[in-house]
Amino acid sequence: IEKIVYWLEKAAGVAENEQQKEVIEKLIDYYQTGDLEQFDEYAILWVKDLDSQVDFVNGFTETYGDPLGMKASWESIVNFKNLEASERTHTISDNAQWFEDNSPVDSRFKKDKVKGVSAKVITAAMLAGDCYPSTPIGINLPNSNWIRHIHGSKSVTIENITEAYEKAAQGNGFNDEFVWSDTERNLMNNYLFQADNLHTDLHECLGHGSGKLLPGVDPDALKAYSSTLEEARADLFALYYMADPKILELGLLPSEDAYKAAYYKYMMNGLMTQLTRIEPGKNIEESHMRNRQLIARWAYEHGKADNVVEFAKRDGKTYVVINDYEKLRSLFGKLLAEVQRIKSEGDYESGKNLVEEYGVIVDQDLHNEVLARYENLHIAPYKGFVNPVYTPITDENGNITDIQISYNEGYAEQMLRYSKDYSPLPIYTSIPVVCK
Ligand SMILES: [Zn+2]
Repeated sequence: IEKIVYWLEKAAGVAENEQQKEVIEKLIDYYQTGDLEQFDEYAILWVKDLDSQVDFVNGFTETYGDPLGMKASWESIVNFKNLEASERTHTISDNAQWFEDNSPVDSRFKKDKVKGVSAKVITAAMLAGDCYPSTPIGINLPNSNWIRHIHGSKSVTIENITEAYEKAAQGNGFNDEFVWSDTERNLMNNYLFQADNLHTDLHECLGHGSGKLLPGVDPDALKAYSSTLEEARADLFALYYMADPKILELGLLPSEDAYKAAYYKYMMNGLMTQLTRIEPGKNIEESHMRNRQLIARWAYEHGKADNVVEFAKRDGKTYVVINDYEKLRSLFGKLLAEVQRIKSEGDYESGKNLVEEYGVIVDQDLHNEVLARYENLHIAPYKGFVNPVYTPITDENGNITDIQISYNEGYAEQMLRYSKDYSPLPIYTSIPVVCK
């Protein structure tokens, strides 16, 4: 933490504006005192800083990795704004009230006035802590419900990361192995990048920012299930709206078929292919993964009578097939209404049942099949990123005049350099001998 403070002090010295300086100094106060009220004050200042081109996340932030949802791990991302792509998210946040008013949830749970939803597309410049080497593609913070309610939240889509994922996935054989037919493959080739980015925008900017708790409901009422249900709420909001004519009207997708690419990928991933990340015999623990299976399984089960989604077999292999995209959309809308009700009322029992019934248990036969097919493709189940190396260029007085960026460092070299340069523990070169 002393090191974090050291660098934050340097950052405060080159802040873009007074407001950003104040944000950084408040964060330093928090690190030096451990006082959570200071952290809240920092979060409020941070959420109000909308002008800075350079921005950051820094703190003990997410509880996704803790099954009890209590302990947050430290993460940081330093980023700058992608001005051109941010036009898209501005369109979305400008229309936030329309989306809130027209969502399929009960009007008692809607915000009368959506405020403080700000959204931008960013370029990540440096990843650290829980965001490194594997990183989120979108972020909406702060997490504190009362701050979100009063002051709003800041939402980002990290497009240099999504673009890298997209490039890395081209021609790796994954879609040939798991996608049912050329129809779905063509949809994905034509529209998936755009549709997925829009999903992230809608998830972060509107999904997490939508809805309200009924008066007197404890924001922690859903306990260990709250992260999963919150992710489900945001994903469902994005899935439901992606297929809305309003999206075409606003020029956010290029065709009325574009959303189908995202629907297909979501269902294939949630029902089958995300299992590549789970060890044989294990169930699902991580919040985002529980959420994706919850949504996909629930929609599959509830659409069964109408054969909305099916598992089809070909040459002994299982595939996901979507037969009715419109009905699937209305199922997403129904589940969104239910998950919002659970959150707004703090209905722990229903939340627990939903997650335990649909989100946790892995179909072992399907799991084994998916793992075997995946192994043949020789692709790692997670992707990670190597940070660029930044070297300051200084003038004769030691002032920084430029930064040189190099992408030449390998992952192993980077890890070894970090542990050498930034290890918080002392290194003893000999074992001390204690004499009496
Ligand atoms: Zn989320």
